[in-house]
Amino acid sequence: MRKLSFPSSACLLLVLSGCVTEGVEPTTAAPDDPIVASGAPATEIVASGAFATDADRERFEAEVLPSARAFLSYWAEVGLAVPHEPARLFISPPPGMKASEALPELYGESIFDDLRALEVDVANAASNRAALDLIDAFTCAHPPLDRGFLEDAEKYVDDPDIRPADFAEALREYHDERMAPDATFSFHADNGEFELPARRNCSYVLLGHATEPARAHPYLERDVVNHELGHALHYGLWMASGPLGERLSASANEAIADILAHVFDGDACHGKVLDERGAPVGCRRRMDVYESSVSDAVWERGRGDHETGQALRQLVWTLRGEVTADALRAAIRDGVAAVQVALNEIDEEPLSNVPVFDDEILAMRYRFVREYEATSVFFNAVCGSLGHAPRACDEHQERLGDPRLAMREAWLANAPTAIGPRGVTLTDGRRVAFEIEGALIRNMTVTLADGEGEVYPGDPDLGIPEEEREPSSGRVTLWFSAPGSASPGAQVGWTSDGALTAR
Ligand SMILES: [Zn+2]
Repeated sequence: MRKLSFPSSACLLLVLSGCVTEGVEPTTAAPDDPIVASGAPATEIVASGAFATDADRERFEAEVLPSARAFLSYWAEVGLAVPHEPARLFISPPPGMKASEALPELYGESIFDDLRALEVDVANAASNRAALDLIDAFTCAHPPLDRGFLEDAEKYVDDPDIRPADFAEALREYHDERMAPDATFSFHADNGEFELPARRNCSYVLLGHATEPARAHPYLERDVVNHELGHALHYGLWMASGPLGERLSASANEAIADILAHVFDGDACHGKVLDERGAPVGCRRRMDVYESSVSDAVWERGRGDHETGQALRQLVWTLRGEVTADALRAAIRDGVAAVQVALNEIDEEPLSNVPVFDDEILAMRYRFVREYEATSVFFNAVCGSLGHAPRACDEHQERLGDPRLAMREAWLANAPTAIGPRGVTLTDGRRVAFEIEGALIRNMTVTLADGEGEVYPGDPDLGIPEEEREPSSGRVTLWFSAPGSASPGAQVGWTSDGALTAR
């Protein structure tokens, strides 16, 4: 029987003993029952946390929870709701807090017995799938416990050599590490995150502690908490109205989460930057400025992120001064709904959801298309809902920028995944073809014009090609080894504009 062990990657999600380098000796608050802030069904929130101090817990209860509840009520009035009721917030223990103290505070006194009971249930499961379903149900009830384990275990679910007992044994070792006397437990330092795990059986918000003096604890930042709940609201609408797109658009998602948070609180400053005395002196992002179009911002970075949808934030901030609050709120809801339709349309394009590991030309194209189309459709739907009266609504070209239509066509035509073994013929008669295996480019071959011999046979042992991106032009080159060349270490490159180059 093969033994499973997934010790390392858990650090990505779950910061535990061995992953934390700086320990802070916390002052622990008394264990409490989960805090329940209940209102109308749509605005119920359950929070669970292990706070550094009683003062932090009191501030969270007095300031953050009521704000979060009011935020959900505000958007419920136009039909936005979280995907799984009630909304749940999990606040990380301070970094360095012993797991033996942190886990009971977060998940109740029986947590260690519950972990052992899960191991027994997994061992007795009828199938691997049933075993992982049990772990999924457990981690949904105790986020983010065992989430990292589950993600690793998924890779083995169809392995005929693996049985539920093997998962149970690996899980017991994983838990043993977490229950070791010196193990610590915390998650998401300096960050908050809305999580909608792949099986979509649950969702929740994780909120961490700050480790940098320039920022407040994320769980005490009302706008950060509302931003994460904003993600819950857009996913709630998308899941309620059809299939969820395979991939997201970070420009649209992040701008929408900020727009929901700050149209609610009326403050243009997202995430206060603090001075050494804790006084706010700046903002990590602002709602009322943008410097470049979405197209240019995505092009420059090669992907969408928290900054690339800035033109949408500033659009909505401008509209706030020109239309009624009710009209704007309904328009934003229409914009959010439209984004899902656009993403689903992109998902239906050929090759849009093929597994891509090292075809950066294809990956870059679809990143660009998603970011541009999702933000564009949000713009159009918001302005369409308002009847195009406000002046900012005439600025689609300025704010969204060049759709780069010719590039989209060229990049799709030149992507190794699209070319494959059938190949393309260059203007000088050479032929370029690619051997593709799943998400990998195994080889590139170049055949001379007269059909005689192959040059630059890529070395399959070198694995993935190196990728290079020129920031100004956005051009991607995939560099392959060229062992047939006279000089050692020579490489031949295939570019996103369909040319061969050498170095
Ligand atoms: Zn976000």
